[in-house]
Amino acid sequence: MMLSFYPGPSKVYPQVATYLQDAYESGILSVNHRSTEAMEMVKETYQLLHEKLEIPSDYSIAFVSSATECWEIIAQSLTQKQSLHAYNGAFGQKWAEYAEKLGIEVLHQPFDLNEECELDQDAEVICLTQNETSNGTQIRNSTLQHIRKQNTGLIALDATSSMAGVSFDWTLGDVWCASVQKCFGLPAGLGVMIYSPRALKRAEELNERNHYNSLLFIHENAAKFQTHYTPNVLNIYLLKRILEHIPMLSEVAKHLEERARMMTQFLTQETSWKVLAENALIQSDTVLAISGDLEMIKQIKANAKSHGITLGNGYGKWKDTTFRIANFPALTDNEFSILKHFIIHN
Ligand SMILES: *Cc1c(COP(=O)(O)O)cnc(C)c1O
Repeated sequence: MMLSFYPGPSKVYPQVATYLQDAYESGILSVNHRSTEAMEMVKETYQLLHEKLEIPSDYSIAFVSSATECWEIIAQSLTQKQSLHAYNGAFGQKWAEYAEKLGIEVLHQPFDLNEECELDQDAEVICLTQNETSNGTQIRNSTLQHIRKQNTGLIALDATSSMAGVSFDWTLGDVWCASVQKCFGLPAGLGVMIYSPRALKRAEELNERNHYNSLLFIHENAAKFQTHYTPNVLNIYLLKRILEHIPMLSEVAKHLEERARMMTQFLTQETSWKVLAENALIQSDTVLAISGDLEMIKQIKANAKSHGITLGNGYGKWKDTTFRIANFPALTDNEFSILKHFIIHN
């Protein structure tokens, strides 16, 4: 089996093999999603998310199909007219473009790769990519705190490739979105949306009920531990089991932060590779984007493949001039030693 450092889908936890079998044997895969068994499972999974990810008790959790769907929900149910999108990479930009296609008046605020995110203006909804998977940068709590203080709008964060890997100050955002194929170490096909009392109040004021995934329908169902459509029950089951298994987020986050620092030091001091974003303040803890020339990139990816290692391709504007390394919790320190050994002997 290939060892995958692709930043999502990435390596799934090895325990998933057993959990899949357990799921089948438990009978949960055949129950109706409005049955007590299914509701009990959803309830326990919400509780575990609150506990393990240290989410404030007044924040709600809902299951959706993906992070991309969250972008749509934010545009439909939380934005009356205008959203501001500050981005420095491909995912943030894509989000802005989808909001625009949905008829939202979008204020684009691109910022430089090595700059910290700063806003020129307030807006009804402020959309930020907490961890920009395309270029390995992140918006830290300290920056978010500043943005929160300076603005009154709802703050929506795409944390797809960092949730369950980075300790957020949850109160600095009103909507947090993720998918489970990144830091949760699970197969793709389930999204998690976490939202504040303030976001809920805003949804109630707007009272948008025109879509199957209108936030109010989602919330009304989630409050009963149900979902607004037949959900990916298998993935919810896997999520519950993995949450039972993993340590508290603060512990996981500390470990990943140290590992990211170690990898960055190794790459910049012991090899000729460079980290794409040189400003350490904005380097991601969970996705490393490494830059080099076209030929070198091509070669290292091909060599890695023949050694049983999958490196992540570059993305968007940096497609050919970077490769990416996921620093997700399911990957072990030993696997990072294998990667380092490969890179140094490549
Ligand atoms: C992976 C990713 C997405 C897309 O996730 P889906 O599960 O395909 O919706 C969105 N935003 C970011 C930042 C990502 O890393």
